[in-house]
Amino acid sequence: MAVNLIPWLRGRRNGSRRAQGQPRLPDLFEGGPKTLMAIMAHPDDIDFTSAGTIAKCCAAGWTVYYVLATSGDKGTHEDLTRQELAAMREQEQREAAAALGVKEVIFLGYPDGFLEATTELRGQIVRLLRKHQVDVVLTWDGFRRGFNHMDHRNIGIATRDALYPAVRDHLYYEEHLAEDLAARPVNELLLAGADDPDYFVDVSDFIEAKVDAILCHRSQVSTRDRDEMLKNHRERGRRAGQRGNWESFKRVRIGRPPRQQRQEPASSTQAEPAPAGASQSRT
Ligand SMILES: [Zn+2]
Repeated sequence: MAVNLIPWLRGRRNGSRRAQGQPRLPDLFEGGPKTLMAIMAHPDDIDFTSAGTIAKCCAAGWTVYYVLATSGDKGTHEDLTRQELAAMREQEQREAAAALGVKEVIFLGYPDGFLEATTELRGQIVRLLRKHQVDVVLTWDGFRRGFNHMDHRNIGIATRDALYPAVRDHLYYEEHLAEDLAARPVNELLLAGADDPDYFVDVSDFIEAKVDAILCHRSQVSTRDRDEMLKNHRERGRRAGQRGNWESFKRVRIGRPPRQQRQEPASSTQAEPAPAGASQSRT
C-alpha cells in the first residue's frame, strides 16, 4: 500500500526526514558510526522492511547485528520438514546479511507462529543488548492496528519492554552481572511496519543492495528476476510521487533527549520547505 506523506514531512538531515510534530532530535546518521541491532521474528522480515537502511548503516561504518526469534519453520507450501525449512531459511538470512555487511546473525530458535512475549525472551534480548553494547534497535511495531502476524506483534512488544526499563536497570536480569554484562540504556528505537511512521530514510543509493538481499530469500520470493524487481521498486517510488526510494519507521526515543537538544531555541524548529515526493510503500 502506497501512502503519500508529503504534507507531514519537514526537516531533511543527511538523507533522512522527520514528520511534522516529531521532536527535533539528532539524526541517527549524525555523530559517527553506531551499533544497531535488528530484532525481528522471521528470516526476511528485516530485508523486506529495512535492508536499504541496514545497507546504509553498514556503508557508514556502523556495526550491525541481526537477531531472529524464529527460523521461519512454517513458511512454505513445499514438501519440507520444519527442520529442513529452518536450515534453508537460516542460510538464506546469513547470505542476505553478509551481502549487506552485517557482523553477525543470531537465531533464538523459537517455533515459527507461536512466539510469545515471555520474560525469557525479554531476558535474552536484554542480554544481547548488554553484550553487544547496542545504541539503536530496529524491530516490528508490536502495536500496529489491523492485520498483524502474532510473531511480529510479540517480538515488537518483547523488544520494547527490553529497552524500557529492563536493559537500563541492573536489578533486571541480575544474573547477567556474572557474565560481566553491565546494565546500560538503549535509547533509540526504530519501529518497522508502523501505522504512523515519522522517520524516513533515503535508501535510493542502496536499492540494488536491498533487492540483492531480498533475492537471497529464495524460499520466499516468487521471482528470481533481479532486473524486474529493481524496476518494480523504482516504479513503486515513482507511482507514489517519490523522488528516490525511502524506508519508513516510527522513531521512539526512550527517556529524555540530549540536553542540548532540549534547549534549542524555538526558531530552530521552523519548518523547512516540504521535500518533494517523500512517501513510502510498505512491504
Ligand atoms: Zn515475518
